[in-house]
Amino acid sequence: MSDKKFICDRMLKRLAVWLRLSGYDTLCDEVLERVNPRKEDTYLVENFADRILLTRDRELYERRKLKGMPVKLVKSSNVGEQLKEVSELGIRIFPVMKRCTVCNSELRKPTEEEILEVAERENLGEHILKKDLWYCENCKKLYWVGGHWKNMVKFLKKHDLI
Ligand SMILES: [Zn+2]
Repeated sequence: MSDKKFICDRMLKRLAVWLRLSGYDTLCDEVLERVNPRKEDTYLVENFADRILLTRDRELYERRKLKGMPVKLVKSSNVGEQLKEVSELGIRIFPVMKRCTVCNSELRKPTEEEILEVAERENLGEHILKKDLWYCENCKKLYWVGGHWKNMVKFLKKHDLI
């Protein structure tokens, strides 16, 4: 896996989720919420020199490129096609248990206490205890390989990404 890092504009939220699912450090609207919306483009042009900005906005793309900052213009509005476009950057799109899709934090193994706390709060039932679990400390959320995972793999196959 490459160590590329990303920041997605607000139009690419679903793409950001897929990049996180694939283990890539990807920021999106959670960092933009702190910025005055009128200054958002300038903020994206001038910051995050260590991240590739993924954007559907050609003007934003040109401005960042002019500054010599890493950027890729995403052309499609379809997330399957978008994934193909970003895979040209040499990254692998495939779900791995590494990052929280909600907040981008790195996942870790939960303690027994944490499992029980989430299981009770979210009414997960006993079967959860038998799963191989991962945990987001920030969201207090558990992750495991389930039906959703199989659907993701199906989606990637359908789009010729794996
Ligand atoms: Zn999280």
